Amino acid sequence: MRIDTATPHHWRKISREPGADAPALNGETEADIAIIGGGFTGLSAALAAAEAGSRTALLEADYIGAGASGRNNGMVVPQHSTANPGAIARALGAAFGARYNAMVAGAAAELFALAARHGIDCDAVQKGWIQPAHSEATLARARTIHAEWKALGAPVTWLDAATLAARLGGPGYLGGWEAHEGGHINPYALTQGLARAAIGAGARIHAKAPVHAILPDGKSWRIEAAGGTVRAANVLIATNALTGTLWPELAKATIPVRLYQTASQPLSANLRGTILVGNVGFTDMRKELRAFHYDRDGRLIGGGRMMLWHHASLRGRNAVRRNLHGSFPALGEIAVDEYWDGVIGVTPDRLPRLMRLAPGVLFCGAYSGRGVALGSALGSRVGRFLAGKTAEADLPLPVTSLRIIPAHGLQVVGARLIRPWHRLLDRRDERAPRKGA
Ligand SMILES: Cc1cc2nc3c(=O)[nH]c(=O)nc-3n(C[C@H](O)[C@H](O)[C@H](O)COP(=O)(O)OP(=O)(O)OC[C@H]3O[C@@H](n4cnc5c(N)ncnc54)[C@H](O)[C@@H]3O)c2cc1C
Repeated sequence: MRIDTATPHHWRKISREPGADAPALNGETEADIAIIGGGFTGLSAALAAAEAGSRTALLEADYIGAGASGRNNGMVVPQHSTANPGAIARALGAAFGARYNAMVAGAAAELFALAARHGIDCDAVQKGWIQPAHSEATLARARTIHAEWKALGAPVTWLDAATLAARLGGPGYLGGWEAHEGGHINPYALTQGLARAAIGAGARIHAKAPVHAILPDGKSWRIEAAGGTVRAANVLIATNALTGTLWPELAKATIPVRLYQTASQPLSANLRGTILVGNVGFTDMRKELRAFHYDRDGRLIGGGRMMLWHHASLRGRNAVRRNLHGSFPALGEIAVDEYWDGVIGVTPDRLPRLMRLAPGVLFCGAYSGRGVALGSALGSRVGRFLAGKTAEADLPLPVTSLRIIPAHGLQVVGARLIRPWHRLLDRRDERAPRKGA
């Protein structure tokens, strides 16, 4: 799946964090750890490994943050993609489940602290993230999620319909929960800051260095990329949904799903006083979920997905305008003038993948659309593991072998075609009778 990385997108245009100083690779070099992919996973791993004293080299095919990390919605969410903590614990077993849930619960706070520690100018706003429910069925799920996080000690609050209407600036939600440590950022700016921090810690970061082969070389690996090679005993593949043919069958471990994002014209201070009050962000529980927050200039950032991508910019901006009107009746006519898109890596169980492809070669990624906080948190833990500072048994996820998705081709096509079905289910939910209504 190709994305347009040549046209600067909204986050890149408004970023105040200087572009990462990541020269092209030139000739042969050695490292303890070679990382392929300059998104949140690879950059956090590089920073952690370099801080732990390992000689670390990161190779990025395009510019730093060119993948999903630089072009997402920017919501910093301490929550799994769809599962609740109890389901995660059942899926992973007691020890990994507890560690993984603890990582997720703390992931947003960890990311904001990381950005602050390195002075990263990414317009960080930690004013909470809300997950509201639009139907009786999703309300029951939201209650379970809230209760389970609360039982685990996470800083969360239940919000009733009236409170949600006042905070979000629109009716239509029956109840929901708030994660107080959540928020939003300019994700592109964060990638540049993470690269700067990793370079400061001693990592070598190379942009425009697409890797085309990873070959055994005695007890090490020889990574061949545009401009040169890196020899390293440990390799971390952090290419997420953009893996291509880099490693046999690896692309079949995730389902790539294209999503688009938009930015509206800036809202007046008056409107901002009634819509997303206090600069909170939200992601609802529709199949075609609605997620909105402000950027630093008061533009509403939102997005969605399409089945057919012709005239994508116009159709995407129109669809978001319709959603904005549905979500925020006070908004009135509003221009949605920026459009860009990207690709997420989805897994059937919505859990990220941490896979050993060969001795010394790991893949980490595939957050099913929740990789801003989770990718940074998991990446840094994997970086410390590769640097020898953590035991494998103490990682938040078990390291598996390569997990190929059965009938991968069909699932990829299915993910593209499913949108009308999702819209139908959402409409049915929206029209279903509500208790007390
Ligand atoms: C439109 C959109 C909206 C989203 N919104 C949110 C959100 O609000 N909140 C949230 O938590 N998550 C969100 N996500 C998901 C999140 O952005 C991702 O989960 C996360 O960024 C994944 O990070 P990563 O480092 O694993 O992968 P990526 O950021 O995709 O990085 C992979 C990198 O690998 C590089 N690469 C690929 N092949 C090679 C090669 N052969 N050699 C060298 N480099 C290579 C790519 O160029 C790319 O830069 C969204 C994603 C999209 C696309």
